[in-house]
Amino acid sequence: MSGDHHTDATTARRVRRLETLLEEKGLITGERLDEAIDAFLAESSPANGARVVARAWTDDAYRARLLADGTAAVQELGHMEGSYQRLRVVENTESVHNVIVCTLCSCYPLRLLGPSPSWYKSEAYRSRVVREPRAVLREFGLTLPDSVDVVVWDSSAETRYMVLPRRPQATEGLDEEELAALVTRNALIGTAPL
Ligand code: FE
Repeated sequence: MSGDHHTDATTARRVRRLETLLEEKGLITGERLDEAIDAFLAESSPANGARVVARAWTDDAYRARLLADGTAAVQELGHMEGSYQRLRVVENTESVHNVIVCTLCSCYPLRLLGPSPSWYKSEAYRSRVVREPRAVLREFGLTLPDSVDVVVWDSSAETRYMVLPRRPQATEGLDEEELAALVTRNALIGTAPL
């Protein structure tokens, strides 16, 4: 499979080729391109994913749209994820816990989750979370009862995932901003309780 399953070195080469081409054609300067990349990275943060989750917790219609078409629903909140084609949001429930991985490399919804943690890219996580998700989650401090099914979502060239965690109990009085502050990056990956 081609697409965005690749090594960092391949990416770097492709980007450099594209940069050179754009500059040669006079379409963009290296400086402008750097600005655009810096802006994208500066706007990439788990706070974005947290705001999406808080909206879903407080607005049932939004939640339904988010689960039906994640890409369109995050765009409603102004998040354009340039680096992937499709975002699928998977919802934790009383009986299902979701966790995301990219077994081939490190695909990840950067804009919504911020730079990926080193463990996400590690060989150990990528291989083990598929084979023994409960054991891996326990090491993250998340022990799930047998009554909860663990579903592992493997990112592909076409699709990236984000977990919609369950809304914590006793948060009825909190507004959207306060709810967003409760959401952590690892909860959006599925490796932390909330
Ligand atoms: Fe990948």
